[in-house]
Amino acid sequence: MSVCLMLHGLGPPPAHIPEEEKPYWISEAMFAEIVSLARDTEVHITIDDGNATDIEIALPALLTAGIKASFFIPSDRIGTPHYVSEDGIRMLRKAGMEIGSHGCAHVRWTEVPDEAIAADVIRSTERLSSIIGEPVRKVAIPFGACDRRILRVLHALGITQVYTSFSGHCMPNGWIVRRNCIKSGMTLADIETTITKKDSLACTALTFLRTWRHAGRAALWNA
Ligand SMILES: [Zn+2]
Repeated sequence: MSVCLMLHGLGPPPAHIPEEEKPYWISEAMFAEIVSLARDTEVHITIDDGNATDIEIALPALLTAGIKASFFIPSDRIGTPHYVSEDGIRMLRKAGMEIGSHGCAHVRWTEVPDEAIAADVIRSTERLSSIIGEPVRKVAIPFGACDRRILRVLHALGITQVYTSFSGHCMPNGWIVRRNCIKSGMTLADIETTITKKDSLACTALTFLRTWRHAGRAALWNA
């Protein structure tokens, strides 16, 4: 079992970031602490939303520490002000970072029909694949807005791993990856508690059931 952390922007949130998203931005100092933690433990860092700080702050710190992280990028933001460019994404991949989809325009999939979710996933994975020159088959769900219908659509599209905002521990190769959201008010002690705390039986059973329904028996061994 390991622990996956979900991060967003790093440093002070820029002016265009909506008020409700600002608590998801953490300081550069906290990020450095998390990187040290990840270097010495089975903690995997994931960073959502494709902010320019992926390149400006995250990449140099990860390279210095010699660890890999996963970046989930909303493809419509690529190359727009404050977000990563195509070259930036290639730099991340060249440095051994994993690139995944976070949809196109960062919409709540719970509020759109199946066909719109599928179109969002297909268009974003194709764009990212063409940028890095290899298939992109992993997805992080925008806003963590996830339900059974979304999991069914993603499974039908052949997505190999779904990164959620369900908290708890996970197997690194499980089809459903639980992630623990890091917010600006948290201390390093809070994060360490997240890492060491045991999942409840209900939490473990829920992942088992979700994987059973959507990915079948074979994937259960990795759930
Ligand atoms: Zn997001």
